[in-house]
Amino acid sequence: MNRIRTRVAPSPTGDPHVGTAYIALFNRCFARQHNGDFVLRIEDTDSERSSPESESRILKSLNWLGLSWDEGPDVGGKYGPYRQSERTAIYAEHTQALLSTSSVFRCFCSSQRLQEVRTQQQLKQDTTGYDGHCLGLSQKEVTTRLNRAEPFVIRMKVPESGECVFNDLLRGEIRIPWSQIDMQVLIKSDGLPTYHFANVVDDHLMKITHVIRGEEWINSTPKHLLLYDYFGWQPPVFSHMPLLRNPDKSKLSKRKNPTSIFYYKDMGYLPEALLNYLGMMGWTMPSGQEKFSLDEMTANFDLTRVSLGGPVFDLEKLDWLNGKYLREGMNDTQFLQRYQEWLAAGNKIELTVPLIRQRVEKFSDVISLAGFVACGRLTLTTDNFAHKSLDAEALKRILQISLWRLESQQTWQRDSIESELQKLSSVLNIKIREFLYPLFVAITGKAVSISVVDAIAILGLDVSRIRIRDAIEILGGISKNQLKSLEKEYSQSICKAMIG
Ligand code: GLU
Repeated sequence: MNRIRTRVAPSPTGDPHVGTAYIALFNRCFARQHNGDFVLRIEDTDSERSSPESESRILKSLNWLGLSWDEGPDVGGKYGPYRQSERTAIYAEHTQALLSTSSVFRCFCSSQRLQEVRTQQQLKQDTTGYDGHCLGLSQKEVTTRLNRAEPFVIRMKVPESGECVFNDLLRGEIRIPWSQIDMQVLIKSDGLPTYHFANVVDDHLMKITHVIRGEEWINSTPKHLLLYDYFGWQPPVFSHMPLLRNPDKSKLSKRKNPTSIFYYKDMGYLPEALLNYLGMMGWTMPSGQEKFSLDEMTANFDLTRVSLGGPVFDLEKLDWLNGKYLREGMNDTQFLQRYQEWLAAGNKIELTVPLIRQRVEKFSDVISLAGFVACGRLTLTTDNFAHKSLDAEALKRILQISLWRLESQQTWQRDSIESELQKLSSVLNIKIREFLYPLFVAITGKAVSISVVDAIAILGLDVSRIRIRDAIEILGGISKNQLKSLEKEYSQSICKAMIG
């Protein structure tokens, strides 16, 4: 039998997500259990949204959790490069191979035409997708258009009838009618591949035997299987893991739950506890024990015991488990050592020193001025927010709009945070002092502290976000409808005014 090889293939387009760690964990356990290899591949085909910062944060966060890999962009390996942006020549070669068959076709449709087709389909409440307009172009016409240097994409042909039947290791037989499958773009007009093409080519060339990924990819699997078929390759075994869910059963999202791995690091969760918690998502130890290490999980791993009911990522349960580690997993000396390591890791206290030195008279003043950087969520009440001219609605509006603005920052730097907030206050026509007031209370929880801009810059987005959210809740929350209209106002007028 072939050596078992699995992979996790994150796209570096944002914060390292707990879902990536969850999928990495199960892939790693499966590979280790079979003495196989676990590969980390960076899927950065979306050059506009991908960034090296995001990639390095993903690697750092997985390392923090102790999820090491055998091959990857940082450690190399036999089947590299492991970053898709470095594999362009490989994809070009494989594109040529497919073009010489009749499994793909060039599509010259303009985005305007595609949009029109889409609108018509939506009006008729049909499944949206490519209508096959360029499917019947003659070779002569294609050549003429190529000679005119008309831009084109390469799409895959899809069977007109029948269904795609495949076996999922966790779900058994899955059947998806081909009529639901779009003639996927494989190669974009710039000659670069889409996710689907690169993913299949790489899984094959990297000799991946088992694809263990989130259930959101089930509907893409027919396209992938078709590609394996067009290339004449043996497909890997597919297993689609259940998605992590918010307590209300919706898909885990940062609107409802912190999703960045760094949030959990910054809040002082132990990596081994977070990993243990992710291991409990849809999976149980044969003994039923809830507290287990990565080694224990690996030794007892059995992928087929994953249960498919959407596992709920519940902060209370994670708190309970983390507390168990702190109480039962270490003595006082170890506790203190881990606590000090955590305090030092973010350099947060250190970063406050230049800001508070002018204002303290003795060491015992430090905690009251800067202690907020080492706290997680604050316990505040509406009284903390009382203001002479801003009522709860006005305060919540400022908080929510500021949060959206902070979330859109490309880089996290004090000066740009300051200028963005200043701009926002003038667009909203609120004096800067008043504008910053609810943020100051939400973030520092104090009547006196360092400047809120410094505080936000030091705390980072994840912790700032949860405090702003908590403040909005304390002030009565924002209803779904209010949020919708605020979002509209934000994207349609406020953001435009910010640019202008
Ligand atoms: N790049 C995809 C992601 O971000 C990988 C999906 C897959 O595992 O095939 O999740």
